[in-house]
Amino acid sequence: MNEIEKLTELFTQFPGIGPRQARRFVFFLLRKENGYSTMLIKSINDALQKVRQCSDCLRYTTMQHSNTRCRICSDTQRTQEQLMLVEKDTDIDQMEKSGAYTGMYIVLGGNLSLTGKKGFIREKELFTYLKNHKNTFNEIILALSATPDGEYTADYLITKFKETEGVKESKITVLGRGLSTGSELEYADSTTLVQAMKNRK
Ligand SMILES: [Zn+2]
Repeated sequence: MNEIEKLTELFTQFPGIGPRQARRFVFFLLRKENGYSTMLIKSINDALQKVRQCSDCLRYTTMQHSNTRCRICSDTQRTQEQLMLVEKDTDIDQMEKSGAYTGMYIVLGGNLSLTGKKGFIREKELFTYLKNHKNTFNEIILALSATPDGEYTADYLITKFKETEGVKESKITVLGRGLSTGSELEYADSTTLVQAMKNRK
């Protein structure tokens, strides 16, 4: 494998990137001047050094020193009795921007799939967290996508919560669908999210 093939192969491992697009990335980098590639390499290095996964909410973020929990999870001013489950790291950013929620989070990392293919959530991590926070949460809010897979995942989790000690007493709510059908949290604006929080049930 020559250098071009090797780099192309690495880009094809990106989500949604096929061999042809990967090759275009490689030639883009080769043509690009003004130290772009050097900057890219440095940015990747910096991110890998400073960004770590939070041990509680499981999002990737810049961590202070040797902390294992992120700024949100270690903030004692936040509402400790509410937990919101989201799909992606960016969903937290959207929610925080809206100011509609001040509780804790867990990033599931995806959805289960109705067809059983490629579906994934961090189920083991979620239930370990809930075990360690037994009887902590008055409310667990499911803030998943308004898609068939999102709803399927919500139903699956609600069933499991009802069987889980220290959780089954919690109120389980689903984020009110001011969000239009098929939409993902990450694309919802602040007004919509505030409304969706009010309409949760
Ligand atoms: Zn965190």
